[in-house]
Amino acid sequence: MISNKPMDIPCSLQERKILEKIALAAKDLRLPAYLIGGFVRDKILGRRTKDMDIVCVGDGIALAHKVAESLGDKVPVSFFKTYGTAQVKWNELEIEFVGARKESYRQESRNPEVTEGTLQDDQNRRDFTINAMAISLREEDYGSLLDPFNGMEDLEAKIIRTPLEPSQTFSDDPLRMMRAIRFASQLQFTIVPEAFAAIQENAERIRIISQERITDEFNKIMLSPKPSVGLDLLYKSGLMKIILPQMVDLVGVEMQEGKGHKDNFYHTLQVVDNIAQNTRDLWLRWAALLHDIAKPATKKFEPGHGWTFHGHDALGGKMVTRIFSKFKLPMGDKMRLVKKLVELHLRPISLTKENITDSAIRRLLFDAGDDIDGLMLLCEADITSKNRVKVKRYLENFELVRARMKEVEESDRIRNWQPPVTGEMIMEIFGLSPGRVVGELKTAIREAILDGEIPNTYDAAYAFMLEKAKSFNLTPVK
Ligand code: ATP
Ligand code: MG
Repeated sequence: MISNKPMDIPCSLQERKILEKIALAAKDLRLPAYLIGGFVRDKILGRRTKDMDIVCVGDGIALAHKVAESLGDKVPVSFFKTYGTAQVKWNELEIEFVGARKESYRQESRNPEVTEGTLQDDQNRRDFTINAMAISLREEDYGSLLDPFNGMEDLEAKIIRTPLEPSQTFSDDPLRMMRAIRFASQLQFTIVPEAFAAIQENAERIRIISQERITDEFNKIMLSPKPSVGLDLLYKSGLMKIILPQMVDLVGVEMQEGKGHKDNFYHTLQVVDNIAQNTRDLWLRWAALLHDIAKPATKKFEPGHGWTFHGHDALGGKMVTRIFSKFKLPMGDKMRLVKKLVELHLRPISLTKENITDSAIRRLLFDAGDDIDGLMLLCEADITSKNRVKVKRYLENFELVRARMKEVEESDRIRNWQPPVTGEMIMEIFGLSPGRVVGELKTAIREAILDGEIPNTYDAAYAFMLEKAKSFNLTPVK
């Protein structure tokens, strides 16, 4: 049995079982096969991983079929003849098969000319040394690590380096620039200076990469433990200027009459890191990234007073829509959530002042609805003062706001609330068809309840409506 041989990477029993099946199938077909890339890297790092990449010298699709067959008759294989790749899903695992290849690139595209190659050719075309390590699945050296570029040393030193000349590597496939920065952020590794210089040199070439792939890598940076690592590298490499220039507009501090404002770029990065400590939700992290995005566009210096950014919340909301569309992010609920949080991000702060009325609290609960918890997380993350005493005081203020909200919510149930008299009812009562008057009556009822002028009950709303209707010369039809 092959699987009794020791392996150079720690694998679970199930993984060993499947690797043995692959090794046996490859032996049958007389194809040298190897486990390669991310899986090997992640196993050595002790990270969870569910996708295996198998490279064989020969026909990868044939190997995939043979493996699927040995796993049972119901295991499906999806394959792409043009690319010579195949995928087998088995339990939790996604296993990709491909024939070893050699690639040569042309300047104008990231689609290389591909020819069959050896394992060494295939390792040469890998993006980073830590991603080029392979584990042999051949009988003669089963389980041993084949690491021609010392990826193991780089893993230990926590560095990202390209196997071949960096400028060529990034120019050949500019997506690798995003990947380098994404791995630096995900794994908290350092990109070696020569490679980083090559990214700076080739940044413009990112334009040949599709937005979907850029967005994919960007989101992985956003989901990394400390997104500021990747975001700052995107800025310093020159990539941010190309993919999300509005972020670069946040950089820097302007002085007038001896007064400066904070550097909104680094403030934003801190806010993203702060929220990342409290949530893994990608969209809350995006809200943190974009919360001050309209500050440059709304910035004014008011003599004798200082810097203001009036309306950056509302304009920021509009910018969210544009940025989501450019990034090809989902334009439905997720976009609406981010937009709403950006629009509302100043509201809880205004509730920390003294003498806040219940009606102000009710209004925020009504406007934020179920997103109130996300909004509070954003506001707490937005505290980036270096002064510990201040941070503590601000956080305590938010605690008071939370407590007040809880009280008001318990008595009034405003979250997800709809006024007790609906538009349909108004139309029916006064024999109206849809139009301005119906809208105005409805709004008046809602405002009266939110302001605490009348209680949140059907009877009170109905009486209020009848009174209000008089000013429109309306009387009930029945
Ligand atoms: P993750 O799965 O976390 O995204 P990964 O390194 O496994 O990371 P995949 O996209 O799954 O990334 O790719 C698998 C392997 O294919 C990589 O480890 C690397 O060896 C190689 N690879 C992927 N993309 C590229 C690329 N653009 N250029 C060169 N090699 C690449
Ligand atoms: Mg992978």
